[in-house]
Amino acid sequence: MNKRSWAEPYKIKAVEHLRMTTRDERERAIREAGYNTFLLRSDDVYIDLLTDSGTSAMSDRQWAAMMIGDESYAGSRNFYTLEDAVRRHYGYKHLIPTHQGRGAEHLLSQLCISDGDFVPGNMYFTTTRHHQEAAGGAFVDVVIDEAHDPESEHPFKGNVDLDKLQGLIDRVGAERVPYLSLETNVNMAGGQPCSMENIRAVGELCHRHGIPVYLDATRAIENAWFIKLREPGFADRSIASILLEICSHTDGCTMSAKKDSLVNIGGFLAVNDDELAERARNMVVVYEGLHTYGGLAGRDMEAMAIGIAESVQESHIRARVGQVEYLGQNLIDAGVPVVRPIGGHGVFIDAAKFLPHIPRERFPAQSLAAALYVDSGVRSMERGGVSAGRDPETGENIFPPLELVRLTIPRRVYTQAHMDVVSESVISLHEAPEQVTGLRMIHEPKHLRFFQARFEPAPAPVEHGTHPRPHAAIGSA
Ligand SMILES: *Cc1c(COP(=O)(O)O)cnc(C)c1O
Repeated sequence: MNKRSWAEPYKIKAVEHLRMTTRDERERAIREAGYNTFLLRSDDVYIDLLTDSGTSAMSDRQWAAMMIGDESYAGSRNFYTLEDAVRRHYGYKHLIPTHQGRGAEHLLSQLCISDGDFVPGNMYFTTTRHHQEAAGGAFVDVVIDEAHDPESEHPFKGNVDLDKLQGLIDRVGAERVPYLSLETNVNMAGGQPCSMENIRAVGELCHRHGIPVYLDATRAIENAWFIKLREPGFADRSIASILLEICSHTDGCTMSAKKDSLVNIGGFLAVNDDELAERARNMVVVYEGLHTYGGLAGRDMEAMAIGIAESVQESHIRARVGQVEYLGQNLIDAGVPVVRPIGGHGVFIDAAKFLPHIPRERFPAQSLAAALYVDSGVRSMERGGVSAGRDPETGENIFPPLELVRLTIPRRVYTQAHMDVVSESVISLHEAPEQVTGLRMIHEPKHLRFFQARFEPAPAPVEHGTHPRPHAAIGSA
């Protein structure tokens, strides 16, 4: 055998101790949290796979850079370092820092969208769509159909369906489409990439109609890695050059640096258009801070600049996605039903298939997330009926086709042994699924109920009147 494993391109210098809990303690903790993993205290969690947002480990160089933060109000040296890093790696001309991704989405939406506009995108993201709608636009999903199918093995499930896009332009007219929002490694589809061929074609189609393309570059580097692996002609290219080429087909980006860029807070808007940049600089002072810090400390910008340079290192991204695939493959090998192909930032378990004895009214994914926590102290997130909420018109529960538990992997934080603990726990529950009991919701907040809803164990279903909904939604944050 000539096996060559991926491995971490770093060694560990400082450790953060975790509190080990007993099963009794975890049973008490989850009961007190109303069987909702969002309501657990992180001190009671052993391995935290709730989200990959802002949870990455910074490197020794990033921590050292925190000490050279220039906290001047205007013209901080660190802004220029960050501007240089964004220009070099993303290729856009103007940088406007923001406190995190949604700050950039707010600026772009307010500056470009007018009442009655249509904003096409390859699947919605919660905050992105919110800001588009708040600015008077309507989000239009133009992702390919395969993105909504957990069993489709399409290598680029994030691709835009060019016919859907052309159809929208024909229907409403190009002047009603302020821009197309193109997300890389689509979060809600499970971390699924777009191909370079598709990104190029989307750019050409939009530009032919005078429509700009703005990238949601939050996970563009994970996307670049999948292009290198899966798309002919890219195997010998560097991640940095693939990233630059992705961006070259677009006019700017919004970015949550809490993901790819390996920092705990930060984001930016980057654009090529001089006039739009001027207007964005004017607006950022109202909502975020002066245009040379946008709500960030100087030290945060310095750490982000270094994080960006580290994030395009092939050894980094290979190990990052390799670790996600390692966990996913362990589960697939044991017959656990998961969304295929394994995405870039997490593994999504098909809880409806995993727990066939629990009806949708008893929230299988919520039940599985709670049971996983009790079994091993691993915190995951529900993405299914609880997250989908109720139909605003009928008031009935919405049960989307996908009923998932998301295991999201922070970058550079956990080891392969931690991944083994996670898969062993999932596999042991999968071997005896009947030990997992369904849940009844006993407290239901009006908005985004999944964050604060409370539950209690309830073996037998009593509710009726459910109906399926044709849109898949996976993930958040
Ligand atoms: C997290 C995320 C955002 C929003 O960024 P925040 O930094 O959380 O405000 C936008 N788009 C995608 C795809 C994301 O994953």
